[in-house]
Amino acid sequence: MYVKGVGPQRAKHLEGKGLLTAGDLLTYAPFRYEDRSNVKPLDALAPGEMATVLATVRSAHSPRFQRRNLRLIEIVFTDERGSRLVGKWFHASWLEKVLEPGVRVALYGKVDYDTYAREITMLHPELEVLRGGEDEGEDSLHTGRIVPVYEAAGKVNTRAFRMILKGLLDRLPELSDALPDFLQKRLKLPELGLALRELHFPSSGSDVRALNAFRSPAQVRLIFEEFFWLETGMALRRGQARVEPGIAFNLTDRARQQVLKMLPFKPTAAQKRVVKEIAADMASPAPMNRMLQGDVGSGKTIVAAQAMVIAVEDGYQAAMLAPTEILAQQHYANFRRIFEPLGYRVVPLFGSMTKKEKEFAKRALATGHAQVGVGTHALIEEGVEFAHLGLAIVDEQHRFGVLQRQALQQKGVSPDVLVMTATPIPRTLALTIYGDLDVSVIDELPPGRKPIRTFHRTKAEVELIYSFVKREVDAGRQAYIVYPSIDESETLAVKAAKKAYEELSRDVFPGLRVGLLHGKLKPAEKDEVMGAFQRGEVQVLVATTVIEVGVDVPNATVMVVENAERFGLAQIHQLRGRVGRGGEQSYCILVTDRLNDTGKERIRTLVDSTDGFYIANMDLKLRGPGEFLGTKQSGLPAFRIGNLLRDSDLLELARREAVAFVENPPSPEELAEATRYIRDNWQRRYGLALVG
Ligand code: ADP
Ligand code: MG
Repeated sequence: MYVKGVGPQRAKHLEGKGLLTAGDLLTYAPFRYEDRSNVKPLDALAPGEMATVLATVRSAHSPRFQRRNLRLIEIVFTDERGSRLVGKWFHASWLEKVLEPGVRVALYGKVDYDTYAREITMLHPELEVLRGGEDEGEDSLHTGRIVPVYEAAGKVNTRAFRMILKGLLDRLPELSDALPDFLQKRLKLPELGLALRELHFPSSGSDVRALNAFRSPAQVRLIFEEFFWLETGMALRRGQARVEPGIAFNLTDRARQQVLKMLPFKPTAAQKRVVKEIAADMASPAPMNRMLQGDVGSGKTIVAAQAMVIAVEDGYQAAMLAPTEILAQQHYANFRRIFEPLGYRVVPLFGSMTKKEKEFAKRALATGHAQVGVGTHALIEEGVEFAHLGLAIVDEQHRFGVLQRQALQQKGVSPDVLVMTATPIPRTLALTIYGDLDVSVIDELPPGRKPIRTFHRTKAEVELIYSFVKREVDAGRQAYIVYPSIDESETLAVKAAKKAYEELSRDVFPGLRVGLLHGKLKPAEKDEVMGAFQRGEVQVLVATTVIEVGVDVPNATVMVVENAERFGLAQIHQLRGRVGRGGEQSYCILVTDRLNDTGKERIRTLVDSTDGFYIANMDLKLRGPGEFLGTKQSGLPAFRIGNLLRDSDLLELARREAVAFVENPPSPEELAEATRYIRDNWQRRYGLALVG
């Protein structure tokens, strides 16, 4: 990329933010705007108003009375007319180095009048150092107008961004605007070039409030466009899925009987409803592409099993992919128990199996000898083939990427696909990430479940927590004590868990059978511990988050989460879902150090609610969508300007328009052009695989 003002040094910093091309820079939106068009001389300021001033540092003076710990810094500014203003900052000693006498600055903030000292002050104003001197001509970029404020990229600060973008926009060639004309007209959206100019340097008189709410016409156009291409891509893909012939399964009477024979309990109304939805999809010739959402413990597994029966009874194979070996093992044991009486052969495929075992399983699947395959990533590796895979199921889908889902799908010829997740996803997010999936929701827990009671305790109360655990175990129940893994690395968590395991088994619960489970154990060791816990031989399981997803031991009633402040809310909710699976009252105890306010609010959310959707929404608000799902993990597209929380209205609008456009384009040429445009420009960015 050759852009004025961007040398190799700056290019490196920009790269760190994913800004590689001129196009990337042009869509790097300011996160805030400041109205500096109305710059006032210092002697014209009125207390209470928000104002921008240009001034020069005269001195950084020590405050007259300095309270300890506050480290108040006061800096005196003057302007050409000799008037004074005092800027005050707490905890900002670094400012003294920056604001040496003679430095010119722009300040933006609320004007105050200190009646005691009789001076005009600003507390914590926004501050920008102006170069002056040879740069003076450029100051017109930074003051005297509505100025954009950018998030810095390494050493490229907001001023540098302004200059780079000014340079780019001044030499912007005629842009071809891909957004269909009729939409621009109908929705009254400004054309691309104008929108980009207004995004970075709003013309004078623009509504600053609208700008800061991201609702200026220019911003609306760019946000809409970003969502529109994504949704159009998804609509096109859905359209393709419909024309590709899939399998129309026969729903035979025998299948119904087999289901009845297999069911270990009476399904809930919600389970019945979603099974009907799935069965209807399976019976139709279009390939099923359905997501099954249900809170932890809502009973998704048995729903999956019923779908598998439909497939197998019609002569096809079914496969289930799970993210961890512990969970896959559990499914394997479960499916063997329920399917073998029906005469199905179930084979496992795990990374930890010996080569010989794997070969055996692969052959069973490739020849059709086995009807059901269950496994981890090993199941989607190259060389694994199915004789006639008809149904592909992905459990805990949020743990997999889009590509892994496709890898399983490609083991068959247009098989039906069912993905399951217990991370309830708010509607706007679901639309975006899974816009190509239909959604079924289990919104009811099996009967007899008592809501889990959740408590917040501090580390100081550890004795009480342990005696509570002991009481429950003495009453015949089991308990988990979980340590967080930090930054994906299990090492620290393993250390903490090991240490706790030693203390707990030796000193705290000498009479109880304590087990240790973490990611660094060999698969066979994991199996052994998990098996012992499942059989009730281990009473207290000290673990890292390897048990987070899916593990089902109904007799466990206590979940102690250590360092709960380090977990995401959705993750704790998942952990908590390991208990409350039987008829007994279950408990979740969140143990933390002292917390700040957000920390308290996060923990309170969990104490107050067991509703996964509510918790997911709070988590999303507190952490933002990127972190909430993990962009890479989820296949969540990284938006440049659009923000899923702020702009859900525009997302829905874009989705409606995209669907209408694809189903009913003004002309075939326009649709073809849009398809080409998406394939050339947006496919990689959104990971959308458009074929044809
Ligand atoms: P999840 O949706 O979290 O995957 P599971 O499928 O593991 O939940 O089910 C949780 C527990 O509830 C399991 O022990 C399962 O056997 C039990 N269960 C599921 N559905 C019912 C039902 N309709 N009645 C009674 N128990 C059920
Ligand atoms: Mg499950």
